[in-house]
Formats: sequence, C-alpha cells, structure tokens
Amino acid sequence: MKAYPKVKALTMLIRQDPFEEYVQESEAWKRLSAFTATNIQTRIPCVNRRCVGGELNIESFLGAWLSTKQIKIAQNFPCAGNEGRVGYSCSNYFQIELELEFNDEK
Ligand SMILES: [Zn+2]
Repeated sequence: MKAYPKVKALTMLIRQDPFEEYVQESEAWKRLSAFTATNIQTRIPCVNRRCVGGELNIESFLGAWLSTKQIKIAQNFPCAGNEGRVGYSCSNYFQIELELEFNDEK
C-alpha cells in the first residue's frame, strides 16, 4: 500500500445488516464486502435503502488502526445515517474484521 508503506498485506471483511432487516435473502451477498490492500475502498454505502447520509468512512479510522501495529482488529460501527426524519436513526451496523501483516522494520 502506497500510503502505508509498512503494511505488507491487508484483508478487510465488512458485514452489514446483522439483523437481516434490510437486504433480501436473494441478495445476501450485498451484506459482505471484502478487500485487500490493492482494492480497498475508502467509503462503503449503507445497505438500508431508506438510509440518508449513512456510510462507512474507512479512511476515518484505518490510519489509526494501522499505527497500533495489531495484526487483528475487529470492531462494530453503528451506521450514522437516519431514515429521512429526525429521530429515526438507521439501525444498520458495519462489522469490521481487519487482518494485517507488516513489513519488518529496518
Ligand atoms: Zn444506514
């Protein structure tokens, strides 16, 4: 990864819709996103079609995670969007698992 030269390999899994409220069974693949260092995205849209302003901003936490030098990190992020009206927050979650390999320090 150009922006993170100490990272040798990266695997990120993102699961959404843990309560299976938003995605039809026939489209269950939409709940899962998987990335490596070469195709990682910066933002993942929320799968709740009624959600306004909801997305996962990977850039907002990835740098801090990489600097911890942990090889496995798992964290859940509630979606920050709402369903178009004040007080109706989106109840989707982004469940993230990150596995890392670092280059040897020289
Ligand atoms: Zn949402």
